[in-house]
Order: sequence, then C-alpha cells, then structure tokens
Amino acid sequence: MMSNDPGSSSSRSTSASAPAQPPAQLSRYESQKRRDWNTFGQYLRNQRPPVALSQCNYSHVLDFMRYLDQFGKTKVHAQGCVFFGHPDPAGPCTCPLRQAWGSLDALVGRLRAAYEENGGTPEANPFANGAIRVYLREVRDAQAKARGIPYKKKKKRRKPNDDSSSSNLHDQVQTSAGL
Ligand SMILES: [Zn+2]
Repeated sequence: MMSNDPGSSSSRSTSASAPAQPPAQLSRYESQKRRDWNTFGQYLRNQRPPVALSQCNYSHVLDFMRYLDQFGKTKVHAQGCVFFGHPDPAGPCTCPLRQAWGSLDALVGRLRAAYEENGGTPEANPFANGAIRVYLREVRDAQAKARGIPYKKKKKRRKPNDDSSSSNLHDQVQTSAGL
C-alpha cells in the first residue's frame, strides 16, 4: 500500500507540467484583439509626447485610424478620378489605398472591448465615442461612392461574427511599420 506515501509525486508532476495559464489556444478573435490592443498601445507610446492610456480620447482613436490608412489595400478613388464610382478592378490610377471601412469597423469593435478588459471604464471608453461612429459612417459612405458599391444592409443573410475583412490589418502594420 503506497497511498499514504508523502513522497509520492506522481500526481503532483502531472499537474506541474500544466502550469496555471489561460488556455493555450486563444480564439482568432481574442488573439486579434490582443494584437490590436498592443498595436494601439504602441501607437500611443510613439506619439510626441507619448500619450498615456488614461489620457487617450477619441481624437487619438481618429488619428490612429487615419494613421492605419497608409497600410491599407483598398483603393478609394478621388472624385476627379475617371474610375470614381466604378467597382474595382478598374485600372491604374494614382488614388490612395486606404483601410476598408469594414476593417476599421471591426477594429474599433475589438479595441472597444479590449479597453474595458484592460481596466478602462465604459464611460471613458474613447472607442465608444459618438465621433468614432460618425467617422466610420463617413468612411463607409465615401468608400461606397468612390467604388460604386452600395453598402446596403443585407437582410437575407446575417453573419454576426464575420470579421474576415479585417484579417490582414496586423500583418500589414507589422510588416510595413516594423512595430
Ligand atoms: Zn482612382
């Protein structure tokens, strides 16, 4: 009988090999949210002067979204461009690439959640500010016009967790900006 043997470590060693950590596999959404949050924190620290998270307000969020445009891959034709209003692929032109509206919208949703998960209060959440919604709506409408794609609500199919449009944001930021 060895059941009372104090030196028995067989059960101990199995639990020791599984240290107390969150589940090893985060969902795609969770890991993307974490990377978004890190990217945003890096962005704030890179400001001159650096912006503390407690000082962060909606204008920093707006600046952050405009900053991300340089890594965008969505052609948004200017009003003077011959391709304005035509769905892509249209042809070569000098209009800028930007973040697609859907990418920004999904990004803001993730960062809004991350802000509160990292100790921020809902009242102070800069991602929940009305100015962000207004900006996103403007981007959506401008991109719809520029590309000739009406962003109408589709009623027949609902995909509540579809964040596929944002999948490349981080790769773009990290490879292009070296963050
Ligand atoms: Zn163009």
